[in-house]
Amino acid sequence: MAETSIEWATTVWNPTTGCDRVSPGCDHCYALTMARRLKAMGSAKYQHDGDPRTSGPGFGLTLHPDTLTTPLGWRQPRRVFVNSMSDLFHARVPLAFVQRVFEVIAATPQHTYMVLTKRAGRFPRVAPRLTWPGNLWVGVSVESAEYLARVDDLRTVPAAVRFISAEPLLGPLDRLDLTGIDWLIAGGESGPGARPLSLDWVRDLIARCDRWGTAPFVKQLGAVWGRQHGADSKGGDWTYWPQDLRIREYPLSAEAVSPQGAVDQPQPSGR
Ligand code: SF4
Repeated sequence: MAETSIEWATTVWNPTTGCDRVSPGCDHCYALTMARRLKAMGSAKYQHDGDPRTSGPGFGLTLHPDTLTTPLGWRQPRRVFVNSMSDLFHARVPLAFVQRVFEVIAATPQHTYMVLTKRAGRFPRVAPRLTWPGNLWVGVSVESAEYLARVDDLRTVPAAVRFISAEPLLGPLDRLDLTGIDWLIAGGESGPGARPLSLDWVRDLIARCDRWGTAPFVKQLGAVWGRQHGADSKGGDWTYWPQDLRIREYPLSAEAVSPQGAVDQPQPSGR
C-alpha cells in the first residue's frame, strides 16, 4: 500500500506545506523543487510563494487545517511521514496547530507517525507545553557535525521513539552520542548536484549504533556512489552495496508503539 517512495514510510500527510532553508542539508531540498512544479500544475496547496532567498514558488509556509481529518479515514494501519513537504516545527507554525496535529495522531493509534525536523532548537521550549502521543516518532536531521546540537534538543522530547536522519550525510559524525536515540537513518544525497558520501562515515554510524543499541537503517548511498558503481541514480538499490552496509532495521520499541502491527519489517524497496 505504499503511496510514497520513502523507504521507511507507507503514506505521507502534509497538514502544513512550505518551508525555508536553514542549513546545508537544505541546499537541494526536494520539496522545494516539487512545490514549484505543483504550483505550475495548479495544485491548490501550493499557490503561496515563499521568500525567494530561502524558499521559492509555491513553497511559502501554509497551514492546511482542512487536511487534519484525513487520517481519520484510514482504516488499515499505516506508517505515516508527517510533512514530507514542510517542517512541522517551522517558527511560523503556531504551537496550537502542532497540538491539533498531535491530537489527530493520538486519535488514530492504529497508525505510526513520524515527524522529522531541522528546527530542534524549538524543542526545549515547546516540549513541556505539548501532549506527545504514544504513536509518534520524532526525529531530527543531522547532515554534519556542525548540527549535533539538534540531537541534544531531541533528547528533551518525551517521544515514544527518537530518531536521527543523517541524510544527506555531508561529513563524519565522529562525536555523535546516541544516548536516548532509538533509530538512525543514514543516506547520501540524490538528484542534480548531489554531494558525495564517504562509506566510512556510514560505517562509523553503524558502529555507533552497535555501541549504543540504536537500530541502523541505511537508506541509500547517494547519486555519486550510484553513478560510480553502475547502480541506480539514487544509489538506493542495495544489491549493489558492500555487504556490511545492507542494514535496514527498525527500533525494537516499534512493536510496543504499534500493537496492531503497523510497523512490519518491510523488505528493502530497492529504490
Ligand atoms: S527543512 Fe526540510 S523541507 Fe525545509 S527547506 Fe530544509 S530540507 Fe526542505
